Amino acid sequence: MDRLLAHAALSEAIARCGRENVTAAARDALAESRQRIAQGRAAPGLDALAESIAATVTARYAPSLRTVINATGVILHTNLGRALLSEAAQQAAVRAAAGYTNLEYDLESGERGSRHGHLESLLRQVTGAEAGLVVNNNAAAVMLGLHAFALGKGVIVSRGEAVEIGGGFRVPEILQQSGAKLVEVGTTNRTYLADFEAAVTPETAAYLRVHPSNFRVSGFTHEPSLAEMASSAGERGILLLHDIGSGCLLETRAFGLAHEPTPQESIAAGSDLVFFSGDKLLGGPQAGIIAGKAPLVQQLKKHPLVRAMRIDKMTLAALQATLLHYATGEAASQIPVWRMIGAARKDLSTRARRWAKAIGQGASVIQSESTIGGGSLPTETLPSPVVAIGGTGTALESLAKRLRHGPTPVVARIERERLVLDPRTVLPEQDDALLAAVLAALAAGQ
Ligand SMILES: *Cc1c(COP(=O)(O)O)cnc(C)c1O
Repeated sequence: MDRLLAHAALSEAIARCGRENVTAAARDALAESRQRIAQGRAAPGLDALAESIAATVTARYAPSLRTVINATGVILHTNLGRALLSEAAQQAAVRAAAGYTNLEYDLESGERGSRHGHLESLLRQVTGAEAGLVVNNNAAAVMLGLHAFALGKGVIVSRGEAVEIGGGFRVPEILQQSGAKLVEVGTTNRTYLADFEAAVTPETAAYLRVHPSNFRVSGFTHEPSLAEMASSAGERGILLLHDIGSGCLLETRAFGLAHEPTPQESIAAGSDLVFFSGDKLLGGPQAGIIAGKAPLVQQLKKHPLVRAMRIDKMTLAALQATLLHYATGEAASQIPVWRMIGAARKDLSTRARRWAKAIGQGASVIQSESTIGGGSLPTETLPSPVVAIGGTGTALESLAKRLRHGPTPVVARIERERLVLDPRTVLPEQDDALLAAVLAALAAGQ
């Protein structure tokens, strides 16, 4: 053990990970060697043993959360962390982490302030709502709204909207967990206002509309407009709650996409409360935003569950910086999600050609499609020039695997006997790292 711990191969590991951790790994490695010898098998020599211990310790104490290059062309890739933050939002989060802030301190009066106050006026401005509140994620926001206003009461939902959004968010289960009672009306494809109205009883708390974010029902369909539902709810003294999902604050038609419903429209149509994510098309950090009527939001702010779901200062700082981009009209140019959606064909093409040339070995530029992802605009695609590397199924699978296992993991997509690298979701400053990773993965497969 002493000779091992004094070995040059372990000095760096000791400095970085601590003597105790290296000693523990060395003890395990020695025990394994003894066992091999007892079984009459060969055991590694001192140098090999020290090197393998160094590798074990280094891997064990490296952060498992790593930066990856997203070459899939899926902009809001849920498994890769959804939205990337703008430069300003990144800096705001770092500042909030590094120093004290007036998070809950009123600098004017020198007294206790409210963390919610930092976002309130921005939320009013960008959504047009009377008031707003932010919690951990949209699942929490919806749960909170239902629990606060429909506990033990009925919530009427169209059968076409009692959906699963993915990652465990299923409308009937969220309703059940919130303590509200699901009342399903209509059919999967056609639900009328009259269906909702016929189900209202003295026990009804709300109509709930849920945006079917990640699928489309088309053809013989009907759903009442939000405005119709808002006036129907108002007449009956119940609420109209709207889980709109993505929190898309810009008009997607301006980017050549289908229309994605916006919180502004929902508020304007008369929804009492609208719920949406911070890290989908809004392009900010993970958060759940509730916008709507002031008395309801005031009531929510005092709810004990808000304390259990409250956002932390880094999220708040990043969300505030993100919302400021919308408030000052620079969202499309500053927020990575919108920059990727709005990327010029010419720029993507230039990068794809440069990549193909650098990769060589049968790489070519072909026309393909990027997608929005993250449960937003499921049937919409953006035409993209991409780099394709041809090969058979198993060769491509093993190339994709080598790309994922490199020092800077690259996640690519495989389509029709080709490995595809999509420049739309790769940050331009990652181009060189991507090319180095691809060349190394190809060379390792030779
Ligand atoms: C994505 C989504 C959710 C869940 O939002 P999170 O922020 O991921 O918790 C809820 N409802 C709808 C309609 C969604 O699209």
